[in-house]
Formats: sequence, structure tokens, C-alpha cells
Amino acid sequence: MGLAENKTSPTKLGKRRVVLKISGDGFTRPGERGIVMDAVLQLAEQIARAAQTTEVAIVLGGGNILRGAQFTAASRGIREATAHYMGMLATVINGLALQDALEDLGCETRLMTAIRMEGVAEPYIRRRAWRHLEKGRIVLLGAGTGRPFVTTDTAAAQWALELEAEIILKATRVDGVYSDDPERNPHAVFFTSLTYEEYLSRNLGVLDREAVTKCMQYGLPIRVFNFRREGNLERALAGEKVGTLIADAARLSS
Ligand code: UDP
Repeated sequence: MGLAENKTSPTKLGKRRVVLKISGDGFTRPGERGIVMDAVLQLAEQIARAAQTTEVAIVLGGGNILRGAQFTAASRGIREATAHYMGMLATVINGLALQDALEDLGCETRLMTAIRMEGVAEPYIRRRAWRHLEKGRIVLLGAGTGRPFVTTDTAAAQWALELEAEIILKATRVDGVYSDDPERNPHAVFFTSLTYEEYLSRNLGVLDREAVTKCMQYGLPIRVFNFRREGNLERALAGEKVGTLIADAARLSS
């Protein structure tokens, strides 16, 4: 039995609790790198509205700044493990930007990191994060798992399980899961739902296999959706059917 079915809401206020994974793309304009504050503000406005009715823990991506896998063993001058740590720090930079944007809108937030850096963020402690969520604070989770050679999708799966979120909402720049990369193949077929097994056997690339495998093990559903479509982020946070749902067969048929 999956997590979502074997418990009621973990929250004292009876709100839904979700983990929202925002890729680095969300922090910039299409095709650009770095941080574009207009893009961050747009994200923040949607999150702020939805957070009134939902407990939201946000797992921050960092690909707009750096992905460790860009640097392979063959790269000169920087080891791949070092580059992964740089990628983890990039997620914290994004977190600081989103935190200010959310607080400008009157939201209470906490930035917590898996790598200790007390000068800028709280260290991640599960019970403390839980308490922040219960108090209605938006929790921003930076530095991924704190370990190299994985991505923030895996961190999202880990955190969603720890915090007993009912779903992972993965905000991306495509509408959901396709049979192939829709930005390269115009004939790629869109899926409204998929079982974990179908996702894994088709070798699809929107989410890490490691993250999907972890979610499959615990029956944790994942919704992949396009955050750039007006209103989508709020709809996903409100539990509406946008994008693609990846879950077990029983849940998909209910
Ligand atoms: N990263 C890591 N360990 C983690 C999470 C992230 O080493 O637990 C590094 C990894 O190099 C990754 C980078 O941080 O490429 C940025 O994260 P990610 O690629 O997941 O960002 P996104 O694709 O969501 O923008």
C-alpha cells in the first residue's frame, strides 16, 4: 500500500503536504542561464497563493547555474565530485533568491540545507522542517542530498518520504512525460499517466531513474507538469490533474 493511502494528512491543520521540485529552469528565462528575478517573482507569486491552503516544501534545482555531470573524469582542472558540490551550492543560491521573492509577498519561509552553512540557512533537521510546515511556513530545501553524483530529483524523493508528503510535484519546462524529448522530436507522444514500471522500462528522461525507483518502492506518486503555463503551478499545488501522473497501477485506475 502506498504512502498516500495508508495515512491521513500528517499535518495538524489538516492541510495537504506536498514536495514541489523546481528545476533550475524555473529561475531564469527560456534558453538563458543564471538567475532572472522576473522569472523567480512569477514563480513566487503562484507559490504564495497556493501555500495558503497547502503545506509546501520546495526542493531547489540548480541546473540554471551548474550541473555536476557537465564535468566528466576527462575534464581538466575540476573533478566531477567537486563539480557536484558546486551544483549543490547552486541550489542554495536559487533558494536565497526565491526566499526573498516569497518574503516580499508576505510569506513566512525557512531555507534549510543538507550541507551546513549556518550563515545563510538553517541546517536541515527533519523534525524542525516538519514544525515549520505545520506553522504554515514555506520550507525551501537546498543542497540536495548533500552527497555528490545524484541530482535534486533524488533529493526530492528522499525529502518527500521523510516529510510524509502525499506527492512530489515536479515543475519542468515541458508539459509532462513524453515518449521522447518533445523539444527535439515533434512526434513524441504525451502520457497523462504512467506506472512507475512503464516509466522505467521506457527509459524516459524527465526524472532520474533513482528517484522514480525510490518512489515506486514506497508508492509515492509524482506529478510532472509545465510551470510556465499560466496557472499550472497553482493547479498542481491544489491537487488538480495537470501534466503526467506517475504512480502505481491501483492508484492510476482509482
Ligand atoms: N547535486 C548533487 N547531489 C544532490 C543534488 C544535486 O551532487 O543531492 C548536484 C548535481 O551535480 C546536480 C546539481 O547539483 O547536477 C544541480 O542539481 P540538478 O541537476 O538536480 O538541478 P535541476 O536539473 O533540477 O535544475
